[in-house]
Amino acid sequence: MASTTKIKINLEGIPTLTRKQELYSLMFGNVIHFVRIVDSRNGYIVLPKTSQDADKLMSPDFRRKLKTRCEPQMPLETKAKMTIVIKKVDSYITSHSNEEIKEELVRQLKLQVDEVYKMPQHGIVKIRFPDIQTANKIKEQGLILYNYSINPAQIEEERFTRVIQCMNCYEYGHVKGKCTKKNSEKCSECGQTGHRFTACKSTTKKCLNCGGDHRTLSGACPIRRKEITKVEEKKQEKQVQKENRLLSEVVKNTAKATAKVEKTIEKTAKATAEITKTAIKETQPPIMQLPNNLAAPVLSVESDDKEKYDGQ
Ligand SMILES: [Zn+2]
Ligand SMILES: [Zn+2]
Ligand SMILES: [Zn+2]
Repeated sequence: MASTTKIKINLEGIPTLTRKQELYSLMFGNVIHFVRIVDSRNGYIVLPKTSQDADKLMSPDFRRKLKTRCEPQMPLETKAKMTIVIKKVDSYITSHSNEEIKEELVRQLKLQVDEVYKMPQHGIVKIRFPDIQTANKIKEQGLILYNYSINPAQIEEERFTRVIQCMNCYEYGHVKGKCTKKNSEKCSECGQTGHRFTACKSTTKKCLNCGGDHRTLSGACPIRRKEITKVEEKKQEKQVQKENRLLSEVVKNTAKATAKVEKTIEKTAKATAEITKTAIKETQPPIMQLPNNLAAPVLSVESDDKEKYDGQ
């Protein structure tokens, strides 16, 4: 499967030829194929060849081999592909904490699980695996959770919705280039000012937007969720509008076509009548010219009617 995922590798500093060569050889040594490596502000952007290569690049094993604080930045799009959404989950399951569900999953599947997030009011549990392949496998096979058999029909891929967010101040609704808060060094990981996320040494997470104990870009952020819902609703609205437009177009065209057909039918009927008339005229035998006294219509007159007829 071809990958369109870009993976950002932050290397605490500007790209240099030595750093790039190091990255090349490390990837070569771990049989990670890639299409391109591009220099970026704090490191490199790698375009892996396949999603398996992307998985390898983001595996904890490879991350360990890269120097400390050289974490690949996982694009949200990739994260969505690693996440499965289970619907119609029994309330018995959602009565457990995210951590408990995660432990149960690991015990049951004997697989690594990155994150569990539940939405009990909607009967939804989201599970993020460390790679796309595992997520795909579970989507196809289903799973067992607290003795509940979850079938593949209940499982969907996480939808990825791009929201407009400033990567400088992390507020929603504008992009970095339009940010009015220049020189504000905010950390999206710990919520502190004075450093960026690439230099964060804090072990605690704090959201810059809601103050919650999660990363600013976390899918668990209620403000982020609201933004995503807004975008999705707009998308939905646009889709409905498009469908309505198409439908009215179809109705209009059908009406036009019907009118055309009706006209044609009318025309055909007229023409047929005309032809019939002509044909009748042409096929009618010439009226025999009879002497005046014999010019009575030739009718077989029944004896009963004879009188009536004579009387006329
Ligand atoms: Zn901004
Ligand atoms: Zn920080
Ligand atoms: Zn938040």
